[in-house]
Amino acid sequence: MLQQLNGHSSSSHDQSKVSLREDIQEFLSGEAPLHQLDDLTKVNPVTLETVLRCLQARYMVDTFYTNAGCTLVALNPFKPVPGLYSPEMMREYHAASQPQKLKPHIFTVGEQTYRNVKSLIEPVNQSIVVSGESGAGKTWTSRCLMKFYAVVATSPTSWENHKIAERIEQRILNSNPVMEAFGNACTLRNDNSSRFGKFIQLQLNRAQQMTGAAVQTYLLEKTRVACQASSERNFHIFYQICKGASEEERVQWHLPKGSTFSWLPNPERTLEEDCFEVTREAMLHLGIDTPTQNNIFKVLAGLLHLGNVQFADSEDEAQPCQLTEEAKCSVRTSASLLQLPENMLLETLRIRTIRAGRQQQVFRKACSRAECDTRRDCLAKLVYARLFDWLVLVINSSIYADPDSWTTFIGLLDVYGFESFPDNSLEQLCINYANEKLQQHFVAHYLRAQQEEYAVEGLEWSFVNYQDNQTCLDLIEGSPISICSLINEECRLNRPSSAAQLQTRIESALAGSPCLGHNKLSREPSFVVVHFAGPVRYHTAGLVEKNKDPVPPELTGLLQQSQHSLLTVLFPTDPKEKTQEKPSGQNRTPALTVVSKFKASLEQLLRILQNTTPHYIRCIKPNSQGQPQSFLQEEVLSQLEACGLVETIHISAAGFPIRVSHQNFMERYELLRRLCPQASSSFHNPYSAKEHSEQPPQGEAATLQTLLQDILHILPALTGTAATP
Ligand code: ATP
Ligand code: MG
Repeated sequence: MLQQLNGHSSSSHDQSKVSLREDIQEFLSGEAPLHQLDDLTKVNPVTLETVLRCLQARYMVDTFYTNAGCTLVALNPFKPVPGLYSPEMMREYHAASQPQKLKPHIFTVGEQTYRNVKSLIEPVNQSIVVSGESGAGKTWTSRCLMKFYAVVATSPTSWENHKIAERIEQRILNSNPVMEAFGNACTLRNDNSSRFGKFIQLQLNRAQQMTGAAVQTYLLEKTRVACQASSERNFHIFYQICKGASEEERVQWHLPKGSTFSWLPNPERTLEEDCFEVTREAMLHLGIDTPTQNNIFKVLAGLLHLGNVQFADSEDEAQPCQLTEEAKCSVRTSASLLQLPENMLLETLRIRTIRAGRQQQVFRKACSRAECDTRRDCLAKLVYARLFDWLVLVINSSIYADPDSWTTFIGLLDVYGFESFPDNSLEQLCINYANEKLQQHFVAHYLRAQQEEYAVEGLEWSFVNYQDNQTCLDLIEGSPISICSLINEECRLNRPSSAAQLQTRIESALAGSPCLGHNKLSREPSFVVVHFAGPVRYHTAGLVEKNKDPVPPELTGLLQQSQHSLLTVLFPTDPKEKTQEKPSGQNRTPALTVVSKFKASLEQLLRILQNTTPHYIRCIKPNSQGQPQSFLQEEVLSQLEACGLVETIHISAAGFPIRVSHQNFMERYELLRRLCPQASSSFHNPYSAKEHSEQPPQGEAATLQTLLQDILHILPALTGTAATP
């Protein structure tokens, strides 16, 4: 064959020959220019290393999106990329006859979901699960997708409709700056880190126009109101009011220029997110008028002043803690802003009431300094969490469409990624539990999708011993005994129990689980869970208390005394009103533990997702400094593992790792037909196989399989190497 090739003297043919040889070698050795591989399943062989090299090669040429089977991998550019998210780009993907043939993009996913809803006779709801670690770009991606739908899911015909649509879409988009102002904060890992999980359903009518939306939030990190790690900040809104208030408002809210607040660390950092005007404008569009806004900001200012109340130990333990003159002034200002009786506020913070005996006699006991601090922080957390829930409720009422006006939805899930820190607690347990659930959902869907694809292609295949993460989920949430049930039981029994005891209980009751790791080296009481993304050590100290999330009844009682019009809504005295406040019941029933509430909301989310066709976007942070053009392999590698892409690759490897469309293959290796008579019989249109009556029709992939076998057979002759067995 080689001689035959050499026999041709034309230089163009020589070139073809060389490039053909290189092409075949590249194709079979996986050394095609990596940055051109737009699907990681085409990397050959599929290993973490090759996947990493491919992503790096693409990142370095400013290509930020890559397919990985049914997942889209999104690398954070950490710089503005001109045109990448422009309305023109949106329209290009929307107008394309085959958007999947364009470069991988979040708009491909956006358009695919949009078409899936539209094209089916029986419409199917869609969901896009955006995951990744903090700072990877989940919120950015979700926001861009919302903008995409706001552009494509409108009526181009009727101006009247367009106006209505514009209004609702604008409202939906306006929910972002408001929720981010109240729910995002600057952390060590991301200047605009979402401190809550979010699922938004974009509701579409039969004509595929967006008529409304509904937002559900998960696990707001309310402790941040009263406690911020060094170098981190409180929620953006606090900085916004302090920086953006007018002179008149400063007087009203007691926020004179230059005032300092303990709960407002690092105010000197100026962030893009500090723009008060944007938040206010967006609130207005959502129907939150200026007087209501002023009420909200007054409450927030009241909390800031509350944070400045520092207690000092009293000489006599039986006496309430002391306050400096400055602290007394802060109590006064806070009470005035929250419209609470000053004495009552002070007393509630410093004195615990206990009811005991048959007559429920009331005993009053002075709190220690630490107890006073806890009560003050608890008060702030309680107010902020209710305020946030209320805002979500208001936003929903402003964007929610009449149930008759929509038939399908596209859900966007912007959820915190897998977390593993040196010190992990209940928050990480909940977050990683959610990720286990989502991973299980993903695997089930991915396997099913692959099976269906192979069946259509007529390929023979079988998956080998793939383990899903049910064992780990059994350990965390299983019945009758699991980590969650044991922590909940401790809360229910309400007995004094040390961190070491909880560790022993977990270890002995769940010793049989292969996902409970060994914990021999840790000095602190803890247990280890072997998650799909890696082992995580959870410290048991404080776990039970956090799970109870106790609110002293005096605090709620105090807030119910407020004359502030917003606080009277947030803390109604009539229990009936209270249940109406938030239908999902988040943070309402005292008996429910944090874990139980989280489990219930997660199950509800999973039920919704299971009834949708899911799509996955895995966001990756190329470096932790937020620098453009910097791709740190170690950091990316750990994220590839943590976001479960390794698992996806394993599943892909168990299936067929190389996918080439029949058309591409034909175009690329057309020359072989002329050069290699042995192989040319395989160069037929898979669908023309129908013409051969005795042969069953072959799909593209099956045709390529035959073709590749032929090529492997003739390769030694083409390249002048000995045939390998
Ligand atoms: P967290 O879990 O902390 O909320 P996240 O995954 O939501 O993190 P984002 O807030 O979306 O992360 O992104 C972090 C920052 O990265 C953004 O503020 C933005 O500066 C930058 N960024 C993310 N995606 C892009 C993008 N596609 N183009 C340009 N910059 C981006
Ligand atoms: Mg975010």
